[in-house]
Amino acid sequence: MTATTPLYDTYLRAPLRFERGEGVWLIAEDGTRYLDFAAGVAVNSLGHAHPHLVEALKAQAEKLWHVSNLYDVPGQESLARRLTAVTFADRVFFTNSGAEALECAIKTARRYHFAKGHLERFHVITFEGAFHGRTIATIAAGGQQKYIEGFGPKAPGFYQVPFGDIAAVKNAINDETAAILIEPIQGEGGIRLASKEFLQELRALCDEFGLLLILDEVQCGVGRTGKLFAYEWAGIRPDIMAVAKGIGGGFPLGACLATEAAAAGMMAGTHGSTYGGNPLAMAVGNAVLDVILAEGFLDQVRDVALVFRQGLASLKDRFPDVIEEIRGDGLMLGIKAKVPPADLLKAIRAEKLLAVPAGENVLRLLPPLITTAAEAREGLARLERAAEAVRAAGIAAA
Ligand SMILES: *Cc1c(COP(=O)(O)O)cnc(C)c1O
Repeated sequence: MTATTPLYDTYLRAPLRFERGEGVWLIAEDGTRYLDFAAGVAVNSLGHAHPHLVEALKAQAEKLWHVSNLYDVPGQESLARRLTAVTFADRVFFTNSGAEALECAIKTARRYHFAKGHLERFHVITFEGAFHGRTIATIAAGGQQKYIEGFGPKAPGFYQVPFGDIAAVKNAINDETAAILIEPIQGEGGIRLASKEFLQELRALCDEFGLLLILDEVQCGVGRTGKLFAYEWAGIRPDIMAVAKGIGGGFPLGACLATEAAAAGMMAGTHGSTYGGNPLAMAVGNAVLDVILAEGFLDQVRDVALVFRQGLASLKDRFPDVIEEIRGDGLMLGIKAKVPPADLLKAIRAEKLLAVPAGENVLRLLPPLITTAAEAREGLARLERAAEAVRAAGIAAA
């Protein structure tokens, strides 16, 4: 039998083909306009075809694409300086993806203890429902059986405990523990928020036992919660942080950030990447920061987030048979469906609105950070029509 596609069958794709994008809109080949609140899974932080990003990429493309890390890349220096100036971090390693940023974070934590002569301290405590990527190490870190199964023995050194359970974390710490790794807001897991107190308690445990606190802000970082990084809301500072998705605005770019102390073991030759910190990626990353760090930008994100929160809360009140719960923070929102989530997603798509499935029957809304209040209200109106359609189809719970 011949396959209908030469591509791996790894993705369950929706039958949609887009030709171009403008801001919060995606335009299909047949001209249909979709309101894009999926944003490439929180990647298109500034929407589609943002003029400043397009200009930055074009200008760099005409000069230089790639030189490798055999040489200085000035864009890396400038982007790293800007990232360290506005975060806890002193050092940055650039990658091409989230999983690679996590790999660097895990390696950094292990090397930290190794450099102190503690070769046995390589274990990382992670959380149920987590998602850290699809490499051999990051599927072990995420711990979800559906991603691990069939890929050989689970990489050693990762221990899952229930999300939010500080006693379980404490219980899991031993002489071999190197670090605690957590998403301040679980994305794939279903928009589950770690409380401020929980993050503060993790910080305290790390201090008490000499562990490194690693945050995975691949999805919740870069302005999505209305602060540049989600950890700022908890008033804590991590030792290491993985960043990707929104920082590239659609160009493949990730970064591992660390304090001077945490990065101490990563000396010359310990880590590398052919493409990481490529001039094209650096030009775009710097351009993304130009916009997000501009005066008032994050205030606007918080204002629009409020429009969403109020609109979604009202929707939940009016459609308790369709919507069980509204979750999230900033522009990282989740609708926990009371109906089969696939049915709700289908109804939403029929209204030409794009959302992303997640765990726990949640549909994620991850609108671009440039979404205006008017566009938010347009999205809410489409959601309302979708909820009505689900109810009318008799799918809703009695
Ligand atoms: C998407 C994601 C990753 C993996 O990023 P890739 O770029 O797909 O490798 C890791 N952690 C979180 C929280 C993510 O949302």
